[in-house]
Amino acid sequence: MLNFSALPPLSLYIQYPWCAQKCPYCDFNSHAAPLTVNARQRDEAYVNALINDLEHELPAI
Ligand code: SF4
Repeated sequence: MLNFSALPPLSLYIQYPWCAQKCPYCDFNSHAAPLTVNARQRDEAYVNALINDLEHELPAI
């Protein structure tokens, strides 16, 4: 069992799931998605959902 004298730093990994192409070796949940006019709306919706989720989970940290 690990004993910490202080809490370890909080780290956060966020996967941005859309790529220009799907690399053949990649196991991430990522998908090829062309940059289109709708990409900005998609990205904003994704980032807003991430922020909402983080704010929801914040009291548990
Ligand atoms: S497909 Fe995977 S390895 Fe390739 S750019 Fe996207 S996340 Fe990175």
